[in-house]
Amino acid sequence: MAKAVSTKKSNTIKLKFDTSWSYAPAPESKSAASIKPQYDLFIDGKWTKPQSGKYFSTINPANEEKLSEVAEANAADVDKAVKAARNAYEKVWKKMPAKERAKYIFRISRMMQEKARELAIIESLDGGKPIRESRDFDVPTAANHFFYYAGWADKLEYAFPNRTTEPLGVAGQITPWNFPLLMAAWKIAPALATGNTVVLKPAETTPLTALKLAEIIQESGLPDGVVNILTGAGATGAAIVNHSDVNKIAFTGSTDVGKIIQRAIAGTNKKATLELGGKAANIIFEDAPLDQAVEGVINGIFFNQGHVCCAGSRLYVQESVAKQVIRKLRDRLESLIIGDPLDKNTDIGAINSKQQLDNIHKYIKIGLKEGAEMYESSCRLPSKGFWCKPTLFTNVAQSSRIAQEEIFGPVLSILTFRTDDEVIEKANNTPYGLSAGVWTDKGSKIFNMTKRMRAGVIWANTFNKFDPTSPFGGYKESGYGREGGLHGLLPYLNLVS
Ligand code: NAD
Repeated sequence: MAKAVSTKKSNTIKLKFDTSWSYAPAPESKSAASIKPQYDLFIDGKWTKPQSGKYFSTINPANEEKLSEVAEANAADVDKAVKAARNAYEKVWKKMPAKERAKYIFRISRMMQEKARELAIIESLDGGKPIRESRDFDVPTAANHFFYYAGWADKLEYAFPNRTTEPLGVAGQITPWNFPLLMAAWKIAPALATGNTVVLKPAETTPLTALKLAEIIQESGLPDGVVNILTGAGATGAAIVNHSDVNKIAFTGSTDVGKIIQRAIAGTNKKATLELGGKAANIIFEDAPLDQAVEGVINGIFFNQGHVCCAGSRLYVQESVAKQVIRKLRDRLESLIIGDPLDKNTDIGAINSKQQLDNIHKYIKIGLKEGAEMYESSCRLPSKGFWCKPTLFTNVAQSSRIAQEEIFGPVLSILTFRTDDEVIEKANNTPYGLSAGVWTDKGSKIFNMTKRMRAGVIWANTFNKFDPTSPFGGYKESGYGREGGLHGLLPYLNLVS
C-alpha cells in the first residue's frame, strides 16, 4: 500500500507518495465518435449557415487541440429559430395528441441509449470530464430524463388533478458547460412533454453533445422547428432572453448571469427558472461511518473536477473526529488518478477552460493569503491542457472567501464544529442554498438537520445522487424553480382552470 510522507513548507504541505503499483492505461477509443470539422445552426429541422458567417473553435481542454468549429448565432439567427419554434408550436406540436408527442420523446431517449458510447466520448473530449463519468452518469441520466418525461406527456391530468393545463409556447433554454448533454436533457425533455417548443443554446466551450443531440433529433423525425439548437456565447444567450416571442426562459449557469436575466425579463410575461451557483456544506458528525463519509466527500467535490453546482465544496467536520477525517482525506486524495479523460481509470480529468483554471488558481492564492493551510496531491500533471491538482484547505475561517464563494474546481475548504446549532448556523451562512450533505448514524439527527438547513437538496449518508424523478433547485442566490420530477413539469405549464 502507498504511504504518505508530508513535508511542510510555509503553509503548504505536499504529500509524497510511494506508490508501489499503478493501473495500466485503458483509453476509450476516439475513433468510436464522429465529430464533423464544422457545425452549422440547427433551425427548423435543417442545418443552417449563421447569418454573420462566423464560426468559433471548440477545443479539447486535456490537450488544447481543436475538435471542431461551430457557428456563432446572432440576433437574426435567434429570430429565425424563434419563428420556427413558434410556427411548429402553433401548427403541429400543441395540436398533436399527447401520446403521439410521447412517442417522439421516447424515441429520442432510445436513440441516445443506442449512441451512448459515442455521446460519452464526445462529452469527455469536449468538456474534459473522465469517461467513467460521461459513460456511467451523464449520458444514461440524460437518456433517462427523456424516458421519464415521455411517460408524463399523456398523464398531465394525473400530475395536476382537477386542473386543466396549457403549454406556455416557445421556451428559450440556456445551459452551462459542466453537464452539457444532461443539462440539455433536463431542459428539452419536460418542455416537449408539456407541449412547448424549444430554442436551446449550449455553453460556448462545450457545444458538441448538444449538436450531436440535434442530429439524433433530426433522425428521430421530430417535426421541424420543435427543437432548435443554436451555438454562440453570451450575446446569443442574451438575444434569446430578450426575444419578444419567447414565453419562458430556462437558465442554468452562474448567479451573475442569472441576475442579468432576471433584470432583462422583469416587467415581461416571460416565466423563468434559474438554476444558479452553489457552495454546498457537507457535514460529518462524530458518529458517522467515517470511511464512507470520506468517500462521499471525495466524490462530492472531486467528481467532475469540482465543476458541479452542487459540489460539496465546504466540509464541516465535528471537532472530535476532525484529525482522523483530514488524515483519511489526505490519503485518499493521494490515490486519485488524474489524467487523460478518455482513460477508464481516470478519476479527475481536465479543467474545462483556461479561464476556469485561472479562476481556480485565483482562489487557491486567496486561500493561502487568508492563512488557510493547503494540502495538494503530489500527482504529476500533463504538460499540455488545463489541469489542477486536487486540493484541500484546513484552518479555514467561516468568513474566508474560500468558504463563502463558489470556486467551481477541485478545491475543498475544511472547517470544524462542536454542536448541531453551530454547524447549522455556519452551513446556512452563505449567499447560496443549492445542496448539502449530512453524515451521521442517527436518523433523528438527519431529520433535525434537513428541517433547519436552507438547501434545495440534502443528501444523507451519500452525496451527488441524481434521478429524473427527483426535483432539483435552489434557495437564495442558487436560483428558483425546480427541474426534474413532477415539479419539473409545472414551470412549462399554465394551470388554466
Ligand atoms: P455562465 O453563467 O457563464 O454561462 C451559462 C450559460 O449562459 C452559457 O451558455 C453562456 O453562454 C450563457 N450566457 C452568458 N452570458 C449570458 C447573458 N448575458 N444572457 C444569456 N445567456 C448568457 O455559467 P458557466 O460558467 O457556463 O457555468 C458555471 C455556473 O453554472 C456555476 O456557477 C454553476 O454553479 C452553475 N450551474 C448551476 C446548476 C444548477 O442546477 N443550479 C447546474 C450546473 C451549473
